[in-house]
Amino acid sequence: MFDYKILEDEMEALKNEGLLINIRTLESPQGAWIVINGKRVLNLCSNNYLGFANDERLKQAAIKATQEWGVGPGAVRTIAGTMKIHEELEKALAEFKGADATIFLQSGFIANQAAIPTIFGDESDAIISDELNHASIIDGVRLSKAKRYVYKHNDMNELEARLKEARDVQKARRILIVTDGVFSMDGDIAPLPEIVELADKYGAAVMVDDAHGEGVLGRGGRGIVDHFGLHGRVDMEIGTLSKAFGVLGGYIAGKETLVRYLKQKARPFLFSTGLTPADVAACLEAVKILQESDERVRKLWDNASYFKTEMRKLGFDLGVSQTPITPVMLYDAKVASQFSKELFEEGIFAQAIGYPTVPKGKARIRVMISAVHSKEDLDFALEKFEKVGKKLAVI
Ligand code: PMP
Repeated sequence: MFDYKILEDEMEALKNEGLLINIRTLESPQGAWIVINGKRVLNLCSNNYLGFANDERLKQAAIKATQEWGVGPGAVRTIAGTMKIHEELEKALAEFKGADATIFLQSGFIANQAAIPTIFGDESDAIISDELNHASIIDGVRLSKAKRYVYKHNDMNELEARLKEARDVQKARRILIVTDGVFSMDGDIAPLPEIVELADKYGAAVMVDDAHGEGVLGRGGRGIVDHFGLHGRVDMEIGTLSKAFGVLGGYIAGKETLVRYLKQKARPFLFSTGLTPADVAACLEAVKILQESDERVRKLWDNASYFKTEMRKLGFDLGVSQTPITPVMLYDAKVASQFSKELFEEGIFAQAIGYPTVPKGKARIRVMISAVHSKEDLDFALEKFEKVGKKLAVI
């Protein structure tokens, strides 16, 4: 038998460092307010940016699709056949993002695993990655045999140096630059126009993970490519349906040839079953609603700018955030953990985030603002942040 004490000891050590994650059990659906341990608390943790996670129209679409199509797709799409609604969603997503085509997968995490090694998998390839890229990009790169280069966060000089190295020293067959669009822990935006310029100069491809950009940036939430007007200049856009879209699933958007190739070769597409009809129909409904109106996206930004302005006035350090992702920088993991506990006592659910999700010494409370929050909700949060911030001598 394996010696499980080793694992217990490791978790005990994490606890002592304030790094043991306390996974809360929810007793209600996602929304502005949720129930945990029988207690109603203000929810500042979810990626439910636009409130779709418990939206009536999405729920009805999921119920109808279940009645029409059943609960499961049967097997992988290349073997059991692909249901019409999967294809409808792929078309709707392509239209929404202004891309030629998309391939729909099980999650954003899996989309990164599908995109990177399938196209840039050979030893003679080069992958150049921002140091703060999401774990699923890092794991996608690990699945490839390509030579890896990492550049300092958003540092275009370093990116150019790595591109030169890959082109002139390694003499790489294919070069990929990969970056998060919006960085999920800091809320800053990648300088995509400069990245695309450099890619053109060095003959590299560009992949951007738009997980926190879609539903948030660009016209009506069309994402980072739309935000910068770079349609047709980014080779692979990764999307997730689990955040602003409120459901589950991921996709890769790009040229028609790329998508057709991925459907032949990407291992998560070939070897793992697609999402259920209910998921797919709910995603389709979210895209439809966003195409009808940008009201929710505007509300999200109004809420974010109000909350961030007031938090800065109180003296909180919000790092480099440019989006509704609001890191309240506390640096010390134990302080962050204590802050989160005190907030919970005050009726607020805001998780502390520490290593390995963020670098050591960069612990924080990450506040996720949503369009579902009312002004009263935000004022309540501000009052409690001020109270706890003063108590712990953070402000
Ligand atoms: N990429 C980024 C940048 C993310 O923040 C996340 C979610 N944490 C993902 C990918 C994974 O998305 P999903 O939850 O759909 O797997």
